[in-house]
Amino acid sequence: MDWKNASLRAGLGETAVRDIIKGRVKNPRYDSVVALKKLLQEENDPAPSIMQSIAADADEYDAEDHEDHCQAVIEQVRRMGMPVKLDEICRRLGMRIVYEDRDTGFAGSIRNVLGDFIVTINALHPTVRQRFTLAHEIAHFIHHRDRIGDGIVDDELMRDGLQNPLERQANKTAADILMPDDDVTAAFESGLTSLEDLARHFKVSKHAMAIRLGMPY
Ligand SMILES: [Zn+2]
Repeated sequence: MDWKNASLRAGLGETAVRDIIKGRVKNPRYDSVVALKKLLQEENDPAPSIMQSIAADADEYDAEDHEDHCQAVIEQVRRMGMPVKLDEICRRLGMRIVYEDRDTGFAGSIRNVLGDFIVTINALHPTVRQRFTLAHEIAHFIHHRDRIGDGIVDDELMRDGLQNPLERQANKTAADILMPDDDVTAAFESGLTSLEDLARHFKVSKHAMAIRLGMPY
């Protein structure tokens, strides 16, 4: 096995590739397993048995498992409290976040670079806006991972999500991630009843909170 070549092709660190294939990592990250599976599929040489077992593990992850896995991660992080730690969700899902000063029309994007999912966020937007964009890109990773390819770029227009069903779905999931039903109910029952208080608690815009509550804004 040419570790350097394998690591480049799998988009993983050389040590990570070696450790996972040699079975030194008990619970390899989901995206690592998938990247290695891709690598195995491209290999013409018969794979050593340990690699076959990784391939078998990876076979268990189909698109639905991917969504289930993501939702489980989001649930774990949700339990850490509000406002939800989006950077922790990204870390656990193997997504990288890059903040860049961009034109105001650019909200964010997600790209797949050799199996590495990189989210770019416009650092010049207000924090609550950046958080919504980040949650929206996480949603693309959950639902549209296989379609990301060279990248999905979200500008002002796409973010409206009116025409494109993928964007609508991403916005819906973003709202679910940022303002989980149970937490909204709990916050409300604990006395946070004004739009302003709730928006601050979840670190979202008042507009996003109002939509979530079905209130006119
Ligand atoms: Zn989008």
